[in-house]
Amino acid sequence: MSILTRRNFLGSVAAAGGLAALQKVVGAEGPNRSRSDPGPANPTLDGQNPDSIWPPNTDSKSLVQNFKYPFSFANKRTYEGGWSREVTVRELPVSKTLAGVNMRLTAGAFRELHWHTAGEWAIMLYGNARITAIDLDGKSFVADVGKDDLWFFPSGIPHSIQGLNPDGCEFMLVFDDGNFSESETVLLSDAMAHLPPEVLAKNFAVNQEAFKNVPKQELFIFQADVPGSVEADQKAAAGTRGRSPQNFAFRTMQMPPTLKTKSGEVRIVDSSNFKVSTTAMALVTVHPGGLRELHWHPNADEWQFYISGKGRQTVVDTGNKARTMDFQEGDVGYVQKTLLHYIENTGDTDLVFLEMFGKVNRFQDLSFSEWLAHTPPEAVMAHLRIDKATYDAIPKNGGVVMPLA
Ligand code: MN
Ligand code: MN
Repeated sequence: MSILTRRNFLGSVAAAGGLAALQKVVGAEGPNRSRSDPGPANPTLDGQNPDSIWPPNTDSKSLVQNFKYPFSFANKRTYEGGWSREVTVRELPVSKTLAGVNMRLTAGAFRELHWHTAGEWAIMLYGNARITAIDLDGKSFVADVGKDDLWFFPSGIPHSIQGLNPDGCEFMLVFDDGNFSESETVLLSDAMAHLPPEVLAKNFAVNQEAFKNVPKQELFIFQADVPGSVEADQKAAAGTRGRSPQNFAFRTMQMPPTLKTKSGEVRIVDSSNFKVSTTAMALVTVHPGGLRELHWHPNADEWQFYISGKGRQTVVDTGNKARTMDFQEGDVGYVQKTLLHYIENTGDTDLVFLEMFGKVNRFQDLSFSEWLAHTPPEAVMAHLRIDKATYDAIPKNGGVVMPLA
C-alpha cells in the first residue's frame, strides 16, 4: 500500500468511526442534523466532557451553576522546594464554604511555619512529610505522615509541613472557608520582618544583633535539610512540658472500610473517630460499572476531589433544574447542601474521590432509596406510578455504592 493510499484508508476509517460515534450519541432517535457542531472545537476537552457537549435529555435547559474546576486550570506558585495551587470561591464561584490547596514539597523542603483562621484538613496523596503544631496548652505535636494519612489543624493553631525522604510529598489541603487563600496566612518570616528589632529583642530576651539575618521577604516554601528522627524532634520540641495529648493526625488505612459492597467501599472519618477534626470526610471507591447512590447531605455543602478514575455526576437543583458533568483525576466538584446527586463510574478503572464537609461534627447523608423504602408503599406508588413489585425491589437499607451484590 502506498503512503498516499494508506492515508486515504486511515482517513476513511476515522470518518467511519466518527459517524458511528455520532449515531451512538443520537441513539434511538436516529441521525439528527441538530446534533452537529461544525464550528471551532477543542477535541481533547470535549472528549473529557461528553455530558456537557451532549447533555442527557434529563438535564434542564435552564442553567445550573458550574460545579467543576480542574486543578489543571489553577495557577501554580513555584519555589525552590516545591509549589502550591488552589481552587477557591474565586476560581469556582459555587464553592462558598470550602477551598482546596494542592501542594508539593521536595525532601527537606518546608511549607513555612504559619497559621490562619480557617480549619485545615489534609490528606497525603504521595510520599511522606513531618508535621508540627502546638495545642492550646502550648504542648507540642510532631508526627510523620504517609500516603492516605490525614491531619487537621483547627483555627489559629500554628503548624508546619516538611517533605521527607525519599522524594518529599504531595498533599491536598481542604479549608472550611471558600474564601480562603494560601497567600493570606500569617507566616513566621513575615511576622518577624514586620516587627521592630528592639521589640523582638525584648520579647525573646536576646540582643538585637541575634536577629540580623531574619529574612526580609516571606519564605512560604523553601528548601532545607531533611530532618533527623521523628523521636528526636518530638523530644526536643516537648522539652520539660511534655507532648500534646491531642492527635492532629489520623491513619486512614488503619481503619477498616466503614461500608463495603460488591461495587465499592467508603471510609468515613469525622469527629467521632478523629477527635480534633471539625471537617468530615468520606473517601469513596467505586468499581467500574458502580454507582455512588442517589443521596443528599442535610448538614453541609460537599467539596469533592477526584483522586483517580473517571465518573459523571448529575446535580438536581431546585426550580426544575439539573445538570450532568464529567469528572476525572485532578478535578474539584461541588454540591450545595441538600441537593440530590449521584456519582457513576464511567471508566474502566476504580473511581476514587473525596467527599468533604466543613464545620461539622458528623458526616451525614440521606439515601434516596432508603427514604422511598421507608415511606408508605401506596404513597410512593401513587407518586411514581410504579407497581408493588418495583416498590418491593427498592433497597431497604440504602446502597451507598450500587449494585449491592
Ligand atoms: Mn496551613
Ligand atoms: Mn454526596
